[in-house]
Amino acid sequence: MTDQRPGHMGYCNTHAKRLYSSRRQARKVIREHRNRAGMREYPCTLVAGHFHIGHLPKDVVKGRITAPEIYGDRP
Ligand SMILES: [Zn+2]
Repeated sequence: MTDQRPGHMGYCNTHAKRLYSSRRQARKVIREHRNRAGMREYPCTLVAGHFHIGHLPKDVVKGRITAPEIYGDRP
């Protein structure tokens, strides 16, 4: 038996955030989050192919800048 817990794929020390191994996985966690308003997934800039989740900055909510300008628009 290996100790594999889907949804807890790793941890990014630089950003102090949990890592998810795919955008789909990150979105699934957001859907299950009890305070998910304004949360989105975005790619970690350090660990290729992995994602963090977090709340949108106020500037995005107010329309001054768009989320892709902050998080990048990579698939
Ligand atoms: Zn990171």
